[in-house]
Amino acid sequence: MNFTELVRDVYQKIENIEDRGEMASYIPELAKVDPTNFGVHISTLDQIHFGVGDCYDKFSIQSIAKVLALILAYRIVGDQIWNRVGVEPSGTPFNSLVQLEVEKGIPRNPFLNAGAIVVCDILLSNLKHPKEDFIAFVRNISQNETLDYSGTIAQSEKEVGYRNVALCNFIKSFGQIDNEPSDVLDFYYDLCSLKMSCKDLSELFLFLANNGLGVHNNESILTESQSKRINALMQTCGFYDESGEFAFKVGLPGKSGVGGGIIAVHPDQYAIAVWSPKLNKKGNSYRGMKFLEEFTTRSELSIF
Ligand code: GLU
Repeated sequence: MNFTELVRDVYQKIENIEDRGEMASYIPELAKVDPTNFGVHISTLDQIHFGVGDCYDKFSIQSIAKVLALILAYRIVGDQIWNRVGVEPSGTPFNSLVQLEVEKGIPRNPFLNAGAIVVCDILLSNLKHPKEDFIAFVRNISQNETLDYSGTIAQSEKEVGYRNVALCNFIKSFGQIDNEPSDVLDFYYDLCSLKMSCKDLSELFLFLANNGLGVHNNESILTESQSKRINALMQTCGFYDESGEFAFKVGLPGKSGVGGGIIAVHPDQYAIAVWSPKLNKKGNSYRGMKFLEEFTTRSELSIF
């Protein structure tokens, strides 16, 4: 498969379609990004690293970071994590409160805001210096010291984080948050403020195509079985209430964020990141979804 040619061709095609998405504006800082940005980068296990467009520009990865928080918590507490968060698609928007009432503060899955907030609580209970330890973990996986939080984005989200405050307090009322909600939320906003380029993302997530083994040193980041489970969760829950559609049209495990980024992983083959900030009605990058649909259709490779 000539991935470089395919990435270039599909990029050109999607660049020319009308972008019908809308910028995420509920976090003021996100609305300041140039809406015309469009980048793609692929990293393969057989050492192809190729990108086009704005693939070296760092952007706010938002919910994509929830996967990294889950991975670190899973490493630390193992299968016990599934006592605190479920593994079912929710079919509800990412910031919904409704299921929590009936399900007594156990979020349906770790990629909903509610689930990621619980994962942040677990990390807070288990790390000495959560903010520093988490970024050190992320840098270590990718051997990339340039990765960092954005204080401006975290602050911008904190100022308007009314729903996340509600979610965290609601979960706490069921006894499912151990730490102070304000500490949990500060860490959650830092997590969501991580900035990466498409190149950073595809290189970082490549270990999930490699059965959990780091691509730089073959160090085990997750066991093979854990890596399979993270991919399964991305497949079933990675795209808010458009996860079924993503499986249907793209057929890869992946995760999106409201900053317009998407990471997708083809086990045993590659990781690919796409960034275009305007979002479709379900909150996923309009062009990113179109790109990946065309990419997997033309490559005739998917996990199905
Ligand atoms: N920080 C965002 C929020 O809590 C994450 C949303 C997302 O990317 O899905 O609203």
